[in-house]
Amino acid sequence: MMVSMPYPLAARYTQFLDAVFGGLAEPTSPSWPGAFSELDLQSLWFSGEFGHSFLTTCGQQVTIRDFGIWNHSAGPDFIQTCVQIGDKTWRGAIELDPDARDWERHGHGSNADYNHVVLHLFTQTPLARFYTRNSEHREIVQVHLQPEMLAANAVPRRQAEAHLGRCFTPLASMQDAKIHSLIEAAAEHRLERKSARLQTLIAIHGRDQAIYQTLAAILGYRPNQRAFTILAQRLPLKLLLKKPRNERESLLFGVAGHLEPIKDEDTSPDTRLYLKTLWSEWWKRRHAFLTWLEPATLPPWQNTSSRPGNHPQRRLGALVSILGSWRPITAPLRNREWDLKKFCDALASLDHPYWSHHYTLLSKPIVRPMALLGKTRIREILANLVYPLLIPDQPELGDEYLQLSAALDNHKVRRAALRLFGNDPRSAAFQKRLHQQQGLLQLYEDFCLEDHSACSECPFPERLREWS
Ligand code: SF4
Repeated sequence: MMVSMPYPLAARYTQFLDAVFGGLAEPTSPSWPGAFSELDLQSLWFSGEFGHSFLTTCGQQVTIRDFGIWNHSAGPDFIQTCVQIGDKTWRGAIELDPDARDWERHGHGSNADYNHVVLHLFTQTPLARFYTRNSEHREIVQVHLQPEMLAANAVPRRQAEAHLGRCFTPLASMQDAKIHSLIEAAAEHRLERKSARLQTLIAIHGRDQAIYQTLAAILGYRPNQRAFTILAQRLPLKLLLKKPRNERESLLFGVAGHLEPIKDEDTSPDTRLYLKTLWSEWWKRRHAFLTWLEPATLPPWQNTSSRPGNHPQRRLGALVSILGSWRPITAPLRNREWDLKKFCDALASLDHPYWSHHYTLLSKPIVRPMALLGKTRIREILANLVYPLLIPDQPELGDEYLQLSAALDNHKVRRAALRLFGNDPRSAAFQKRLHQQQGLLQLYEDFCLEDHSACSECPFPERLREWS
């Protein structure tokens, strides 16, 4: 027999909570004493204040082998972490949410950027079990952080970006000249590998296509490198250079899938004009590319950059502009008439009637024209294409490469420098040249990213003694 409950207002209140929290309102575990913001919690986690070993919500043992990098951009909170779950070790990302249900509230469960999350941390969870799943419907291991795990005097340290490595101590007592030579050697190693990759590409596709494909990949930055490469493979240089400019541009934007989802009513009048020009060519040709427009075959564009100027549509606009002056811009990469200043000036002065004034196809126009390629991207082109391509045939350019100043802004280099040199006042001198940044990235990739032990088993600190 059903017992009628004597709480006539409860159902109304549940409805009220549902309305406020979108149906996710359920009782939660007891709340934390004192108020920690999400940023505070992340800082405490990253400082190791919660400890290194935990039990998952299913009772499995979890050990954090490497806390990775505190990600200040879009995507999971901590990236490049290493987590041992049971007897298996995983490299991936960690997401920390104040409430377990934030995972769904913030759309992480349907966002492919979170598919590589290996551990979901939270401080609150509904009493009814909440499962964390990614967009591939894979269940993600959960750890419920509890106040008693925190050290008594734990204080959030918001400035932490990367952990000081175990190699800091031997590096701190190493002579400047030795560190410079180590970094230079790592840079050279990196350059050699890039040259070898380019030579392979040239052997397969020819020099021009190798240059074009590499340039496209560089314009894609890391998140869209693959998408840009696929696009450059699908629309090879030979095909594009035969086309009139309008048709070439419409093919690039059409095959990239940037035209189909844009609705006229969402755009500004100047964008409508630009789209009309692109569609006037694209509609005649799109049937030939229909299979590439299927969602599963489209390059998975990532629009998560915190800088609107790096949006893939704008970078594609830059590629269009380079293609418009392909022969003169790339001539020094084919003949032996290399002129650094001329090459950089040619890239810096690229413009486009639409893309010099827009971040995306949906953004409002900017009155003052913006450079299509900034100094940082041009430095990337020098480091990843120009010198690896030219130095094998023109070794005398090696000195010029060593003298090049670094791009101002490189998060990865900053993290590497923080881990290796911490607050050593000499740190700036070890990263002011482009090749030094490349060398630091190489060390970081070879040691930090290969390490699964939070430095304890990394051979780098001991091997340093052998460097002379
Ligand atoms: S992993 Fe190795 S190279 Fe990286 S910070 Fe730790 S000790 Fe240094």
